[in-house]
Amino acid sequence: MKALQYVEIGKPPQLMEVEKPTPGPGQVLLKVTAAGACHSDSFIMSLPQEAYVYGLPLTLGHEGTGVVAELGPGVTSVAEGDAVAVYGPWGCGVCQTCATGAENYCRVAAERHIVPPGLGAPGAMAEYLLVDNARHLVPLGDLDPVANVALTDAGLTPYHAIKPSIPALVPGSIAVVIGSGGLGHMAVQILRAMTAATVVALDVADEKLELAKDVGAHHAFRSEEAAIEAVRALNDGRGATAVFDFVGIEATTALAARLTHPDSEIVLVGVGPGVVPVGFFTTPWETKVRAPYWGSRSELFEVLDLARSGLIHVETEAFSLDQAPEAYERLHAGTLRGRAVVVP
Ligand code: NAD
Ligand code: ZN
Repeated sequence: MKALQYVEIGKPPQLMEVEKPTPGPGQVLLKVTAAGACHSDSFIMSLPQEAYVYGLPLTLGHEGTGVVAELGPGVTSVAEGDAVAVYGPWGCGVCQTCATGAENYCRVAAERHIVPPGLGAPGAMAEYLLVDNARHLVPLGDLDPVANVALTDAGLTPYHAIKPSIPALVPGSIAVVIGSGGLGHMAVQILRAMTAATVVALDVADEKLELAKDVGAHHAFRSEEAAIEAVRALNDGRGATAVFDFVGIEATTALAARLTHPDSEIVLVGVGPGVVPVGFFTTPWETKVRAPYWGSRSELFEVLDLARSGLIHVETEAFSLDQAPEAYERLHAGTLRGRAVVVP
């Protein structure tokens, strides 16, 4: 079968011919219907040899949907032909944390080398995807796979990042989204769907500011010093109750730290090297800073239901598997609107 693989450090991913996998006990083989391209893929492909820990060759794609093609021995929870979305942050499934559904924070995944598809295990940018356990499949139902595959990360990650902040985002409060790309344009919609806050998007590209407004941001400003005054002008100088940074570089974390008021939250989702130093004389009192990772299994059900209700949708640009390298070029160049989706 064909698969898009990262083969050599520093080189673009390539379309390769690989063996079609066979599902073992408890596993499920999917015929892939769609796979999303995430900035995290570009990030890992930018790492130098000594920092790269995902194995080579690596079949890319940690956002995936498919149709069940073959069941491994003992699998009874899905049937051939079922349309499913793949929960990506695989954990052991049985530790106390996995028992809550938060396999993204599995206690033993690292030591047992349990790794997500596309980020260690072979990913979804291929004709077939081997899923390690049937519990990592969530029914897609009537949701179109191409239009919704990105919900598995670009939807789930901002959902998980935003959910704990919701009680504080009361009417009159401000929520800021930094970076209106694949994840950020979903964050804008999740905030609009689940809070009454004024939603402000910041980005460096005019088209991304347009996208943020098109999907529901009340305001969109260029991500620069002047944004601080522009945001504060919206509520008599008070500032933001929550800032969600989907870039995470020094410029954006520094901005995030200056946008908030006492008892607010800064949530770092982007994997850049930026940090927010917290201290009595450094940040407003009671400032909380979080750096969440992906989301839980039950939250993926919730995100799919949010899409089913029509309250969120992914802006997507579709590419064939042959065109997949171009999807990553466009992601790198910052010229995508929303998410690039590869359709094998
Ligand atoms: P993307 O490329 O689609 O979007 C990034 C956006 O940020 C673009 O719109 C870009 O114009 C904008 N941007 C760049 N520099 C900026 C700046 N200085 N100020 C404001 N905006 C700026 O990327 P994505 O796929 O949405 O991923 C976003 C980030 O989230 C990446 O760092 C990715 O690795 C990370 N990520 C984290 C998790 C997690 O679990 N924490 C999961 C998925 C992705
Ligand atoms: Zn991702």
